Amino acid sequence: MARSEESVVDGSRATGNTSPPALPNAAPKDLPSVDRLLRDPVVAQLVAEHGHSCVAQQVRTLVDELRARAVRGELPLTEVANDALTAAVQQRVAGRLAPRMRNVLNLTGTVIHTNLGRTLLADEALAHLLRMMSGPNNLEYDLATGGRGDRDSIVEELLCTLTGAEAATVVNNNAAAVLLTIAALARDKEVIVSRGELVEIGGAFRMPDVMASAGAHMVEVGTTNRTHPHDYERAITERTALLMKVHTSNYAVQGFTSAVSEAELSAIAHARGLPVATDLGSGALVDLAAWGLPREPMPQEMLAAGCDVVSFSGDKLLGGPQAGLIVGSKAAVGKIRKFPMKRALRMSKLPLAALEATLMLYLRPERVAQDLPTLRLLTRTESDIRQVAEALLPAMSAAVSPRFAVSVEAMQGQIGSGSLPVERLPSAGLAIAPVNKKGTGRALDELATALRRLPLPVIGRVSEDRLLLDLRCLEQPSVLRDQLPQLQQALA
Ligand SMILES: *Cc1c(COP(=O)(O)O)cnc(C)c1O
Repeated sequence: MARSEESVVDGSRATGNTSPPALPNAAPKDLPSVDRLLRDPVVAQLVAEHGHSCVAQQVRTLVDELRARAVRGELPLTEVANDALTAAVQQRVAGRLAPRMRNVLNLTGTVIHTNLGRTLLADEALAHLLRMMSGPNNLEYDLATGGRGDRDSIVEELLCTLTGAEAATVVNNNAAAVLLTIAALARDKEVIVSRGELVEIGGAFRMPDVMASAGAHMVEVGTTNRTHPHDYERAITERTALLMKVHTSNYAVQGFTSAVSEAELSAIAHARGLPVATDLGSGALVDLAAWGLPREPMPQEMLAAGCDVVSFSGDKLLGGPQAGLIVGSKAAVGKIRKFPMKRALRMSKLPLAALEATLMLYLRPERVAQDLPTLRLLTRTESDIRQVAEALLPAMSAAVSPRFAVSVEAMQGQIGSGSLPVERLPSAGLAIAPVNKKGTGRALDELATALRRLPLPVIGRVSEDRLLLDLRCLEQPSVLRDQLPQLQQALA
């Protein structure tokens, strides 16, 4: 039976595609019952593995869908052959049980890519996370006294040691940290901020809206490009509760500009008994200039300049899990910690374990650029990356030829996630260009799609009629090389 069906399919190919092929269609009576299909040895094996309910659900929806198509006269007989049916069940069960969250290969050139999950955790952080989650732990339990503990205490001392702060607390992410800081220190009061710092971060985090959500009244001072000390001074009234600095992490104001430094602003605020809070965005705990990278302001500098509260992300340059870190004076952090909203924004034990292990790595500053994947990737040299590209060139060329030509090229990457927006990271990678200049756009789409459909999806970027694979984040070339036969097949 299978034989004759094959020949029908072949016959339809031979007639060309001008008219729909006249395949024999299945009738509803040709379909097996759900029970019969469940008793098939191949399907029974799936039941043994995954249980009855999961497999039966997939068999039922399959049979329902096939019946609907059979009723419409749109179901080829080939699809009701036993092998085809059991293969369809296998595929459906596998699809149902396949996670939606998957690993990908980030070859975009943006190291801390928000859409691709930002930072990679260090091995130490992964191991600690796994150990702590596989059993009970002392999350809020004081092992010395046997009494109730505070989850903040797991990282507070570390954060104080690393930044010189008097106190520290942690929440779900930096957006929450900023919201909580403003609400706790300035609800129903006024917060003064420069017009040059009214940032919008991806995902609808806009400073004016955050202020409103926190129940504070925003008072804008200065202009987009220039704000002076007297702008802040003149805006201070008895309704003022907080002076705020926001790091313009994803844009740069250049040219005729002037901003008030944290030190100047702290002097102005403290003379009136007011606190200063800084939203640092990324915030690096080590000076990136030590590795020839562009400098990013550090929380310890902001505290030294007199800021009362500094908040920053856990999963940007810090290289840890998603988290919002708040460091500062005992008085300000104390208020923030006691504010009721803190409970709703508190950090989960999962990232807390990863955060503790990540911060611990900073106690060994000489090793941190090796231990932390984010810093390791950021500090890779262009010549290192170029070597990887050269080594991959022949195999990649073979996989995409004859339709595409590949070359090794210098590329400009970036740190990403709103860190250092103007600076570029000199990098290298593979540039893949369609050989035929007609239909370039479609060919590039097809290539990008084929790369995304690989078992470990490869994400590059299209620029000037080429698909670029920046190899800065490819630490193991074999994970790309091993997939090239599949890429070749997809493009054939
Ligand atoms: C990234 C960023 C935030 C938001 O931090 P998340 O950890 O992503 O919530 C807030 N402010 C600034 C200036 C940022 O750069």
